[in-house]
Amino acid sequence: MGAIVSINGRICGEQEAVISVFDHGFLFGDGIYEVVRTYNRQLFLLDRHLRRLRESARMIALEIPHDDASLEKAMREAMAAWTTGPGRDVPAAEVYVRVMVTRGPGDGTYDGASCPDPGVVIIVKALAPRPPAVYDSGVRVVMASLVRNHPGSVNPLIKSNNLLNNALAMREAIRQGAFEAVLKNYRGEIAECSQSNVFVVRRGVATTPALNAGLLAGITREFILDVAEEAGVAVVPGVVQEEDLYAADEAFLTSTTREVVPIVRVDERVIGNGVPGPITRRLLHVYRQKADLMTRSAL
Ligand code: PMP
Repeated sequence: MGAIVSINGRICGEQEAVISVFDHGFLFGDGIYEVVRTYNRQLFLLDRHLRRLRESARMIALEIPHDDASLEKAMREAMAAWTTGPGRDVPAAEVYVRVMVTRGPGDGTYDGASCPDPGVVIIVKALAPRPPAVYDSGVRVVMASLVRNHPGSVNPLIKSNNLLNNALAMREAIRQGAFEAVLKNYRGEIAECSQSNVFVVRRGVATTPALNAGLLAGITREFILDVAEEAGVAVVPGVVQEEDLYAADEAFLTSTTREVVPIVRVDERVIGNGVPGPITRRLLHVYRQKADLMTRSAL
């Protein structure tokens, strides 16, 4: 089932979804993005995603040519077009919505002044469900040889379209048949995964690398930190070393599309008992319960 794309408000199918090769988003990866998903066909944590989109834009001095209400309207229009498109006879399916703001077409120099028209691209497609085994049995990840970007370079806090470092790290994982790649920062501490955040659990306390380790402030990570107390679990940001991961009782990763995924192996080492632990399972349960409740109340 194909994607529906909105390019500056013009809705089209995959084949017609083209932008200028002079867009600096294409030439330099000069742009930012968000990925939002639905539960109960309602966008989940949209306010947080829009807040981070604006923060990313601010950090690369990019003017988003719309307010939040118009962005949301454009997302809803693209979602409606996806739902009513040909062959969409599965109204219950959840969707993936990617919002990208690019610098727009320019003269191919680094002078942003040549790009007066930033572009907004929204991609809507079916959210591919993960096999239940991912959650029931947990996954294997690998330690990447690549280092996460130094915060003094392209700061990992920016959710930027410039994703080559992440893609190369993820390819290391794919080559080794692993679910994700864990990246260390320039200090040698664990930062995050190529497309998700990471948590380690030791003696009942979950720790996730603090933002100053140089990582994306994941919305799922933030939400887990917010709901942890209610879930009866201690979750704190802190320093996480590679040895902490190996010595953990449990470990898990989080992202919008992956939710909370137990990590049971790192390279060839078994983590904890080699099965998803009670704290990971509790947080996944609470996360899904909240996501369901919060989107149901919006219906
Ligand atoms: N880190 C990176 C590098 C990512 O690309 C993602 C996915 N967007 C995440 C973490 C998880 O963020 P979120 O929970 O907002 O999806």
